[in-house]
Amino acid sequence: MDVPEQGPPRQPYLSALTSRFGRRLLALFIGCALVPTVLLALVSYASVSRQLEIQGRERLREAAEGVGMTVLERLIGAQADLADLAARGMLPSRLPAPDVVRFDRKVNGIVFVPRTGEERALLGRIPDASDIVDAVAGEVAPGQTLLYARRSVNDLPQTFLVSPASQGGRSGALVVALDVGYLWGGLRSTALGPDMELLVVDDSARVLYGPDGLQLPPALTARLGDGSGELAWSAEQTTWLAGYRSLHMRGRFVTPPWTIVLREPRSSVLAPIAQLRRTFPLILLACIVGVVLLSLLQIRRGLQPLQALQEGTRRIARRDFEGRVAVRSRDEFAELASSFNSMAGTLAQQFRALGTAADVDRAVLSAIDALTIVDTILGRAPDVYPCDLVGVTLLVDGAAAHSFVQDGTRPGGRRIEYVALTPEAAAALRAETERIVSLDDAPPSHLGTLAELGARHALVIPLVFQDDLIGFVAFATRHDAPADTEARTHARRLAAQAAVGLANARMVEQVRSLAFFDGVTGLPNRLFYRELLARALARARREGGRVGICFVDLDHFGRINDTLGHEVGDQLLREVAARLARCCRESDGITRMTSDEPRPDVARWGGDEFTIVLPDLNGAHDAIRIVQRILDAFAQPFQLAGIDVFVAASVGVALAPEDGEDAETLLRHADVAMYYAKEQGRNSFSLFSPAMNSAAVERLALEQDLRRAVQGSELVLHFQPIVEAGTARIVAAEALVRWQHPQRGLLPPLDFIGIAEESGLVLPIGEWILRSACRQLREWRDEGLAMHLSVNVSGRQLRDPTLTDTIIRVLGETGIEPEWLTLELTESLLMEQQEQTVTLLQRWRDMGLGLSVDDFGTGYSSLSYLKHFPFDTLKIDRTFLHDVASGGADAAITRAVLALGHALDLKIVGEGVETTEQLAFLREHGCDLIQGFLMSRPLTADEMTRRLRDGRPLTPSAVRLAG
Ligand code: C2E
Ligand code: MG
Ligand code: MG
Repeated sequence: MDVPEQGPPRQPYLSALTSRFGRRLLALFIGCALVPTVLLALVSYASVSRQLEIQGRERLREAAEGVGMTVLERLIGAQADLADLAARGMLPSRLPAPDVVRFDRKVNGIVFVPRTGEERALLGRIPDASDIVDAVAGEVAPGQTLLYARRSVNDLPQTFLVSPASQGGRSGALVVALDVGYLWGGLRSTALGPDMELLVVDDSARVLYGPDGLQLPPALTARLGDGSGELAWSAEQTTWLAGYRSLHMRGRFVTPPWTIVLREPRSSVLAPIAQLRRTFPLILLACIVGVVLLSLLQIRRGLQPLQALQEGTRRIARRDFEGRVAVRSRDEFAELASSFNSMAGTLAQQFRALGTAADVDRAVLSAIDALTIVDTILGRAPDVYPCDLVGVTLLVDGAAAHSFVQDGTRPGGRRIEYVALTPEAAAALRAETERIVSLDDAPPSHLGTLAELGARHALVIPLVFQDDLIGFVAFATRHDAPADTEARTHARRLAAQAAVGLANARMVEQVRSLAFFDGVTGLPNRLFYRELLARALARARREGGRVGICFVDLDHFGRINDTLGHEVGDQLLREVAARLARCCRESDGITRMTSDEPRPDVARWGGDEFTIVLPDLNGAHDAIRIVQRILDAFAQPFQLAGIDVFVAASVGVALAPEDGEDAETLLRHADVAMYYAKEQGRNSFSLFSPAMNSAAVERLALEQDLRRAVQGSELVLHFQPIVEAGTARIVAAEALVRWQHPQRGLLPPLDFIGIAEESGLVLPIGEWILRSACRQLREWRDEGLAMHLSVNVSGRQLRDPTLTDTIIRVLGETGIEPEWLTLELTESLLMEQQEQTVTLLQRWRDMGLGLSVDDFGTGYSSLSYLKHFPFDTLKIDRTFLHDVASGGADAAITRAVLALGHALDLKIVGEGVETTEQLAFLREHGCDLIQGFLMSRPLTADEMTRRLRDGRPLTPSAVRLAG
């Protein structure tokens, strides 16, 4: 089966974010990518920063050392010059030109300060040279040089060298003011960075050189004069890194040690990494974007199959098993999808099988016929087992079976065949639970139909219930692939369910008689007959030719059933069936029976009705020939229960296409013709003619009129007096209904009671009669006219479960004592449903109602039989009175009835007494009551009232009076 593959529609990237799983995965990806990146960046940053700082300090220290060396060298150079000058012994009053050049730019002034006397400037000027000498004079010994540094009034650094010297015998000190540029200049351009600052501090933390107003940090002051090193401190919102170097000059100069400090803001030191800090967020951002995009791509790729699977799962939850999940990723997802699809397929199959099982269950529980179950199996089998054809074969008896075959590949492709099943095949079927049979060559006869339809293999499963082989199911395919074991299990389950259903008690009966065949006669039943007829009509339409439809009805079959029993009735039906079939077979090739395959044209329609299809007729004469043969066959008596019984038949014939083209019309017309034949008298046939149809239409019209009559007031009651045989006094009357038809005049009951019975109208009519009769009786009773009334009850009324209630209600309404009312039932009614009828009558009797057997002698019952029923009156049918006077058999029967009736304590009514001879005979033999035209015809209510008021006994002359 081709199943649509359903992958999810392609979705935008951001769709991944709608899935919780997608979001989680994205967060995870980003986390995995960013955390190490950021950590690495931080660690690198910290380590590089530290490294830079360490290097920066180192550099500062080294630079401080370098600067210290340079400064020391310059001091030493200046000292050398000074020593040279002092060593001359006699200082010139003014420096000679070469010395001027030599000191140029090194010193700003050279002044000789004698211990006493006037100071003298050899070069430039030193305004407070004496003060300087005074301040330091004690500290300098001859041959020593004192280094003196201070900050000027305007806070400029000033450095002086002081050395003992003499001039003109005057000893004193030579003071040299070193040039700031000479001592400190040029340092920046060589060793110092642009942001470095140079500080020179003496050991008492005086800043000899450096920015104004500088506050030294304690960390630095603690280390002054302490060799070299580096340190860091924070001040004025700046973190400074610094390197320092102490200059120990005691050997050369008289001075406290100086410390050279080079400091630089930390930010300058870390400037190279600051660039990285600026660009790092951008790198991080780019990294995030990259990770997000790649993650989304990957998540979407992962989510698509996941969503497809999810959608697939939802579909399954909705019980839609048809769609398939399409994943083409060639990874585990694809494997999962393929497993999922095969699971959905299995589920679909299982659900279908479950559905089928449920349907079969339903069919089994609700079906009242095997055909419904067969229908279900044929229709649903392909759902449980992949197959092209399904055959259900039901056994009739050991050797014959009916095969129903459904071709699943063609709409409406169903065939019903009658197949042979050999005992060996039946035994083999019974012995196995299932079997795959190859149909390629020499298929077994019971699978012939499947082979004919092109099946190559069939899975055959017997339908067995409690060791009883009911039939078998065949699932056939036109290819050779055998279905998997799962499907076979389903097929077996289906077969088991079907077997249980079919074996249901009633089903088995139907299966045996085979739904299409009548159990009593073995003939096709109504259902099969329709099939046969449809086929014959279709062929006639295709190939031309006529089809005859015969309706055969046995006359008075009911009586045989009633008198001789159902067994004998069935035997008669079988005999009739056999004769009919023979008649058809002997019909000179008019019918199409073949010797090997029984293709019956005769069918049992139901009850005592048989139908025959006569295909391929040339004309009406062909049909008449067969029908005549049928009637001839009935001329011979039937041997039933050891006696010869003559049974007559009435046959109606309709021909296609003249009398109708469809089965329904033809059957109706044949039925009409049959009724017509019945009316013509026993053992006759009629061909349908449209006039008959109009008779049937007329009957229909009458039924409609009757319906109206029940509602209107067209029905009337007449009353026929019943007199005491001895006194001829009226003791009772029988209510007899008439119909005052607006067009047809007054109709006797025989013209419409039959229609009323068939249409069910007899129920409302019966109630009306009972009520009207009781009302009339009430009037008479009220007037003091003591009498009883009889009312007739029809068969249909007797079967009405509400009848007793109706009677009780009417009696209550009209205030009639049950004893005054007698219900008349014809003898033939008692034969049907005897048990129930006895119970019902007993109940009426207990209520006090009178019960009368009407028309006794016409219904084949016997007196001894009557003793089971609680009757109190018996009415001898008038047919027995015809010849009583002449003393023949009728007289003997009537005498016997009177004697036996009295022995059973029954009152006897002589009915239909027309002659004084009949009256005399009845009186002579002790008949109790007389009813008949001799005494009175049925009277209208008014006439009856007058007669009752009159009070005189009726005389036979009344018959003459009545005419
Ligand atoms: P039944 O119950 O046997 O009624 C007696 C029939 O015999 C009546 O015919 C009556 O007119 C007729 N009859 C009486 N005396 C003579 C006679 O001396 N000679 C002849 N030839 N006939 C006589 P009716 O009224 O035509 O009724 C015929 C049948 O229709 C009744 O036979 C009864 O079976 C049925 N029927 C009549 N009225 C009712 C009714 O109210 N309800 C039911 N269910 N059936 C009714
Ligand atoms: Mg009657
Ligand atoms: Mg009668």
